[in-house]
Amino acid sequence: MTKVVSLKSHAAAARRRPAIDHGGGARLFGDSASVIAQLRPQRPLYILRTDKLTRTAQAFAAAFPGETMYAVKTNPHETAIRTLYKAGITSFDVASMDEVRLVRKYAPKAKMYFMHPVKAPEAIAESYHNYGIRHFVLDSLDELYKIIRETGLASDLHLYVRLALPKNHNAAIDFSAKFGATPAEAARLLRKCRSVAERLGLCFHVGTQTTEPSVYTRAVAHTASVIADSGVKIDMLDVGGGFPVPYPGEDAPSIQTCIATLQEALAAHGLSHLPLLAEPGRALVAESGTLVTRVELRKDKTLYINDGTYGGLFDAGPLLGTRYPVTAHRLSDKNGGKFKKPLADFRFVGPTCDGLDRMEGPFALPGDIKLGDYIEIGNMGAYSQGMRTNFNGFGAADLVVVTDT
Ligand SMILES: *Cc1c(COP(=O)(O)O)cnc(C)c1O
Repeated sequence: MTKVVSLKSHAAAARRRPAIDHGGGARLFGDSASVIAQLRPQRPLYILRTDKLTRTAQAFAAAFPGETMYAVKTNPHETAIRTLYKAGITSFDVASMDEVRLVRKYAPKAKMYFMHPVKAPEAIAESYHNYGIRHFVLDSLDELYKIIRETGLASDLHLYVRLALPKNHNAAIDFSAKFGATPAEAARLLRKCRSVAERLGLCFHVGTQTTEPSVYTRAVAHTASVIADSGVKIDMLDVGGGFPVPYPGEDAPSIQTCIATLQEALAAHGLSHLPLLAEPGRALVAESGTLVTRVELRKDKTLYINDGTYGGLFDAGPLLGTRYPVTAHRLSDKNGGKFKKPLADFRFVGPTCDGLDRMEGPFALPGDIKLGDYIEIGNMGAYSQGMRTNFNGFGAADLVVVTDT
């Protein structure tokens, strides 16, 4: 559904306004305004900035004192996978056979971790026997038996017991409502796994977009008590994802602050010796992608835009109400494409005929924004492209890759 157009940005060339070659090949673009001016996109358009992605990923990996794996579901686009691999992120957290195949295709030498606690038996067998995957997560005894059976009693398994954490009201979505073993189950699983696993670890996920670092402190305390109760020696700790990025109206601590908090907690519980892994998604990719949408109609403070909750904007919808950063763009007109009025608060509605296809925001945009103007939505490198549906025939979107110079 997503058409890939490979474009390169080049500030000087952009100033020369090169003609657009719709036949493909390298094209040179500068900032978003010039991309929009040249493409005049009629459909939702993703702008993926690969140099920014590289810098963000390398900064995370440099700050994290362990192995950084990328949670593929966050942005499964081939360019995201290739760019991250080239940036030095060579481990990937996958949850399905399609993700396994995707990573194998675009990052053939990558190491994969199958981190879904509930897997189809066929997926375990295929990933172990055909893709060389040795890292599997589980949160139940039945899943352990499934892994043992499907891998033919393998002796080279790296198993991770996923812990449920106490409720996290701070996260955008709390994953412990769905996955994870209780302390008693986890202790029992650790004892069972110890006898079959070559290496044994614990893992948790604090919940996506966790903006309160003390949540990591609590997660480590919980982990330490499970280890102590189990009486089992573990070989590594996977601290999951959840690392935040800034959104309007929400301060996010830096990655460094989150990691320092984690390390303090590990030291306090005598766990500093454990090799660490992390599974960031949002923190690696969110800020390197934007989504350009067009205003098709304005009714007072409601903007009818050409993408919505069934497209790339699910998280902005009624369930989560995420407020994304937004920038307005106007194609050049007799006023030079300038907005005149100060910012005002708007709500968006999407293109489908469904009543849930609305995004309350509020989103601050120029008060004179009107139909035909473009809205560039930020932080769209995460949890957007992979979630598009073709509901009502509005699924198609394009993507341009923009590099710095
Ligand atoms: C979604 C997910 C991640 C990534 O979470 P972020 O909040 O985007 O960092 C990591 N691990 C698992 C198991 C996940 O399901």
